[in-house]
Amino acid sequence: MPGNEFLLGRAHQAFDEEGNLISQGTIDFLESCFYKFVRFATITNQLNEPEEVIFEPGTYSVTTVGHNGNLPMQVTLSEERIEKIDIDSSGESAGIADIVFSRIPAEIIEGQTLNVDAVSGASVTSNGVLDGVARAIRLAGGNPDSLRKRPKAPSALDKEYKTYETDLVIVGGGGAGLAAAARALQSGKRVIVVEKFPSVGGNTVRAGGPMNAPDLA
Ligand SMILES: Cc1cc2nc3c(=O)[nH]c(=O)nc-3n(C[C@H](O)[C@H](O)[C@H](O)COP(=O)(O)OP(=O)(O)OC[C@H]3O[C@@H](n4cnc5c(N)ncnc54)[C@H](O)[C@@H]3O)c2cc1C
Repeated sequence: MPGNEFLLGRAHQAFDEEGNLISQGTIDFLESCFYKFVRFATITNQLNEPEEVIFEPGTYSVTTVGHNGNLPMQVTLSEERIEKIDIDSSGESAGIADIVFSRIPAEIIEGQTLNVDAVSGASVTSNGVLDGVARAIRLAGGNPDSLRKRPKAPSALDKEYKTYETDLVIVGGGGAGLAAAARALQSGKRVIVVEKFPSVGGNTVRAGGPMNAPDLA
């Protein structure tokens, strides 16, 4: 059957010595494939085109599930924009989830998008916030999927390589790392602390005992 050479991985058999296709049937087959591919690409592009989103303006009270239980929030929408996100964060773990409540609402509002990465180490709380805003959008007559397709906020895409000079690099900003950094700074050294989590403190800020806060008195 014409075109089978391509499907069976023997494309070279379809060409003559000058590099021209031998059979008109193969040409027809390939034309038909390209035509279908172009149609497929056109339809896929149409699906990805940004949709206009209109909200019923107002402040919507919603409750989703965070890491430790309910996560109540109020989302204020104007006709075309997410204006404000107020979250009652009191039920979530202080020190771990705090960064979620500043970073995620800021990125949502900056980019007018739900295409926001969860904060590593606090992904359940992050997804709770994103779900809550999505629910408010639905209540306001919008389609959250349209906002999930939007680009990320510009600040989230700022991943430039930067070069720093230092005397010392400390990996891990827990108690040990920060104590070492403080000591090095006291000795006049330049220090960079590299921390994988979005906030410093590590397990040290969770410790229940007196080790956590040295008594300098
Ligand atoms: C719930 C809990 C209660 C505790 N209570 C007590 C107590 O009452 N008394 C007591 O003495 N001890 C207690 N501990 C133990 C104490 O907290 C730890 O022994 C101490 O905090 C360890 O300090 P650290 O600086 O070595 O590690 P951490 O404070 O855990 O810091 C390590 C840091 O390194 C970062 N890190 C890891 N890998 C990388 C990487 N590849 N790149 C960059 N950064 C990285 C981590 O994110 C973290 O911030 C408790 C621990 C927990 C979890």
